[in-house]
Amino acid sequence: MSYDYIIIGAGSAGCVIANRLSADPNIRVLLLEAGGKDTNPWIHIPVGYFKTLHNPNTDWCYKTEPDPGLNGRALDWPRGKTLGGSSSINGLLYVRGQKEDYDRWAQLGNTGWSWDDVLPLFKRSENHEDGDPELHGKDGELAVSLIRAKSKISEAFIGAAVEMGVPRTDDYNGPDQEGAGYFHQTARKGFRCSSAKAFLTPIKKTRQNLDVVTHAHTTGLVFAPDAPKQVTGVSYSREGSSNRAMLKPGGEVILSAGAIGSPQLLEVSGIGNPQVLSAAGIEARHALPGVGEHLQDHLQIRLVYEVNVPTLNDAINNVLHRAAIGIEYGLRRTGPMSLGASQVAIFAKSMQGLETPDIQFHFQPLSADKPGIEMHPFSGFTSSVCQLRPESRGHIHVTSPDAQVYPKIVPNYLSTTGDQLCAIRAVKFARAMTKTNALAPYIVREHVPSGKVETDEDHLEAARDMAQTIYHPTSTCKMGTDDRAVVDPRLRVHGIRGLRVADASVMPDIVSGNTNAPTIMIGEKCCDMVLEDRRKPS
Ligand SMILES: Cc1cc2nc3c(=O)[nH]c(=O)nc-3n(C[C@H](O)[C@H](O)[C@H](O)COP(=O)(O)OP(=O)(O)OC[C@H]3O[C@@H](n4cnc5c(N)ncnc54)[C@H](O)[C@@H]3O)c2cc1C
Repeated sequence: MSYDYIIIGAGSAGCVIANRLSADPNIRVLLLEAGGKDTNPWIHIPVGYFKTLHNPNTDWCYKTEPDPGLNGRALDWPRGKTLGGSSSINGLLYVRGQKEDYDRWAQLGNTGWSWDDVLPLFKRSENHEDGDPELHGKDGELAVSLIRAKSKISEAFIGAAVEMGVPRTDDYNGPDQEGAGYFHQTARKGFRCSSAKAFLTPIKKTRQNLDVVTHAHTTGLVFAPDAPKQVTGVSYSREGSSNRAMLKPGGEVILSAGAIGSPQLLEVSGIGNPQVLSAAGIEARHALPGVGEHLQDHLQIRLVYEVNVPTLNDAINNVLHRAAIGIEYGLRRTGPMSLGASQVAIFAKSMQGLETPDIQFHFQPLSADKPGIEMHPFSGFTSSVCQLRPESRGHIHVTSPDAQVYPKIVPNYLSTTGDQLCAIRAVKFARAMTKTNALAPYIVREHVPSGKVETDEDHLEAARDMAQTIYHPTSTCKMGTDDRAVVDPRLRVHGIRGLRVADASVMPDIVSGNTNAPTIMIGEKCCDMVLEDRRKPS
């Protein structure tokens, strides 16, 4: 069997690509996914990410190298390993980023990626419960809904932001992102809408021209014996055996294995920086020094407060309340179990003179030492703040030719002065919110940061001690026209034929917000370009 298109990775981007390309019954598509089917029931219950995170059946469970910017701490880096990829274990928050992000991508030479170009693609995927039709789609497959549980303390948090000068908003996904309000979620009637649920489930039984193979770990690209830069297929391992899937003439492989998996597969296939490849014992096939470089991520600084009203900590720590939450969800699909990772979104400017927000808050009416583990034994909330456009760049590189060996992840968090100053302003902003008329009456004490935090140095040190990833690695196969770019604006790998990359790794710069919706948009755009190129006379 040979295919017109082989897609590697059934994640946020891979699922939409498989859907759009297989819409034409004359096109044969293969989708290879290293993880299993999305049958774990916790995948589909919004709050279930507490069960799928750090679970090797659904999470790759990566870990970074110890990071000097975090006082030597190494972070857990979850990534989804199942149909839907990270969209099956993520926090469900539907955020597009800022108009200016995409306009900047276009200004960098990425023609066709401005806000005006990409807005129709966001709308095409979307089935929004209650959005302005100028900005939101109604007919797409990706369900987006308003949250189904609010609380006194979340309202107070929004009130605090408003007192700090942030306008209230019902929709941060339009051309002006600044505002404080409730998150929109990728959910339908109280269930998660992952990319697999949206784009694969409705078609998998009806499209005979689409093969979806799970537990298929792609181990490398296959090249033409007489044309070393022409991809002709992929190799993958499944149930202990080695397999190959081949392309029809003129076919393409689309790498959608995510910001860790995609650069890894390029490198094990001999595409990358020759020095990195040689150190890993890999023969270079094509020099492309940007592979695995330019890594960006959002770093969340998580402040925790004890309050004098019950929060989800109280409910979750109490067996009877837990049962009541379960019953509410079972009967009405509402309440805490219908909530994604955060309730309140705030996009704010941490200093005067900025044109657009530079920090984002994720408010959670609960608190724990780390996301996904036991709640604190007191009524608490988490005020997580992250810098939207970090300057620090890290890298991800292989250390072995074996695709099963995890690559080395070096984020270099807080390694520039600009990021350090932003972290200081962000922590100060978060602490100032707790002194507002709206929020102060509820605050009992600051739990994190603990100890004396007074000077700028103290604030930075506290940030280094408490920050965690907010799970948004991007840009390791960045799109562009410069000599560090890995793909061109049509997502074709520079210098290689028959190969594109389409996932979060191609973002030229990280977007100013959560990365799932932008990655689905990248999948949509990839398909448009693949189909346009297919129609061109050869
Ligand atoms: C815990 C968590 C919470 C998050 N919360 C949010 C949120 O609330 N809102 C938001 O917008 N974003 C969130 N994100 C980020 C967002 O989900 C990701 O940016 C997005 O899903 C990335 O999509 P992708 O297609 O690039 O990669 P993925 O969705 O990760 O897909 C990559 C796929 O490729 C597969 N794969 C990898 N290597 C191979 C291989 N060698 N062979 C075969 N298959 C392979 C993987 O198993 C996976 O299925 C979160 C992410 C995580 C992990």
